[in-house]
Amino acid sequence: MNHVKVLPEDLISKIAAGEVIERPASVIKELIENSFDAESKTLEINIEGSGKKSITIKDDGCGIFSQDLETIFLRHATSKIKDYNDLFSIKSLGFRGEALYSIAAISDLTLTSRHRDSQDAWQIHLRGGNKKSIHPVNMSQGTKIEIKELFFNTPARRKFLKSDTTELHQIVNTITPYTILFPQIKFFLTHYKKMIIDLPTASSRLKRIAKVLNLDPNHILETETITLDDNTRLKLYLSDINIQRARKDMQFIFVNNRPVQNHLISYHINQAYRAILPPEIFPFFAIFIDIAFDNIDVNIHPTKREVKIKNDFQIINSLRSISEENLIRFSKPKQIFTPGGNFTNENPPLLDSVGETQGLERDNTSQKISQDTNKLFASFDFNSQSTVFQNYKTVSDKSLKQQLKEAKYIGQFNRKYLFFESSESLLVIDQHAAQERITYETLITQIEISTPQIQRLLTPILLNASAQELIVWENQKEELEKFGFSTTLFDENTIALHSHPILIKDPKIGLRNLLSLDGENRRFDLDSLARR
Ligand code: ADP
Ligand code: MG
Repeated sequence: MNHVKVLPEDLISKIAAGEVIERPASVIKELIENSFDAESKTLEINIEGSGKKSITIKDDGCGIFSQDLETIFLRHATSKIKDYNDLFSIKSLGFRGEALYSIAAISDLTLTSRHRDSQDAWQIHLRGGNKKSIHPVNMSQGTKIEIKELFFNTPARRKFLKSDTTELHQIVNTITPYTILFPQIKFFLTHYKKMIIDLPTASSRLKRIAKVLNLDPNHILETETITLDDNTRLKLYLSDINIQRARKDMQFIFVNNRPVQNHLISYHINQAYRAILPPEIFPFFAIFIDIAFDNIDVNIHPTKREVKIKNDFQIINSLRSISEENLIRFSKPKQIFTPGGNFTNENPPLLDSVGETQGLERDNTSQKISQDTNKLFASFDFNSQSTVFQNYKTVSDKSLKQQLKEAKYIGQFNRKYLFFESSESLLVIDQHAAQERITYETLITQIEISTPQIQRLLTPILLNASAQELIVWENQKEELEKFGFSTTLFDENTIALHSHPILIKDPKIGLRNLLSLDGENRRFDLDSLARR
């Protein structure tokens, strides 16, 4: 072992920065939190190169006194707490005084600010944490921060950055919960001057949610504020059966006005939705929880959004029963077990839809059925969701596929289910789901071999798209064309669909599922075409 030495200051700052700033989105999170803490009413974010090239954030908050302009870049310099006890009543978003110090250490940063009680604005320029200049300038009240060449002196970090689409996605994902949290604040985000988020002040949270996520507010239930005890209040916004997402990308939890993640709460709300949504389909929700400050663990790391609530049992229990009660009361109930297909009152399962030519027909003889089921066995992925379910004893050494192959067809019920007898089990197949699966497999084969058969539309189908969906669309429209989805932009947040693969029964849902990439996946998830 070598002799012990204290690390040099610039290395310490880079290590500290690495903990707080992982990517452009983390810079934006820290800076916009500062702007909210400064009581800004308008927030303007302009980026280039998905934030890798430059990030500029301008607010109209209280501003910073010129004499503090150098101090704010020192480690643990903060105006938000003074002593240990403040930690337990902290209302601001950040308080560790590390963000500006960290960002400055790994970028080229220019900050300009004018405090509301001051006539003069000042500008400071730092590079790699070193002050380059400080001088007075002209500016109205507020703060503007310009960050260029992020990670210029930490190339290893820079290398870990993902594609521009992914980083841009992360940025939108970071900003979105705050737009829901602060409906009264105006938000603008541009990328190379192209508007991505454009939000005027909203008169209610529900209106803001509808606008930022491009959802129909009539499909969102808003509960009253529910008081559990003196210190605990809950408020829920829950989508009804009409909003169905292939991912959990529209789910938000806020604790004491802070966007957080909490896996248990998320799990239980999604479970409540099983009453109205099919498996693998996710809703929108926003949950607001207000609790006494000493009920949450404040010692969590600033970049970790997972929050720990002490004695969370009662809160989770209430959230789950409030959700279930509201969803069942206001939404249409789920009708039948429908893997790969979700039937509503308006959309009952019919056998005469697209899959008919190669699928199962209504009053078939057992011979025809057995031919078709053979086709079924060939195409089913029996490891995926339970398109086939077994009654009685389910324990068997044989795979389900094998069991089905050996099973004997014994009849049909209600023109909906096929029954098979296998040694010790009764196997039931949902005919409609089976048809959908066959259709889907045919479509995938068509896409893989050449281009699928196309249905051209006389009037385009319009799809309200969220900022994330538009980012994916922008990058993947040529790819979509290969799948048979021909699309153009109808207006700034609506996509027009001009053609779709003939085999897709609900092209709107198919397209939406394809657009619900999380940004990490470069390829479309073709399987999502089968979900709805
Ligand atoms: P923290 O937010 O934890 O205090 P930061 O490093 O993020 O630490 O910021 C340091 C200080 O700089 C803040 O406490 C605040 O006083 C000041 N500050 C930063 N950004 C702004 C802003 N946009 N408007 C007003 N004051 C700001
Ligand atoms: Mg801060």
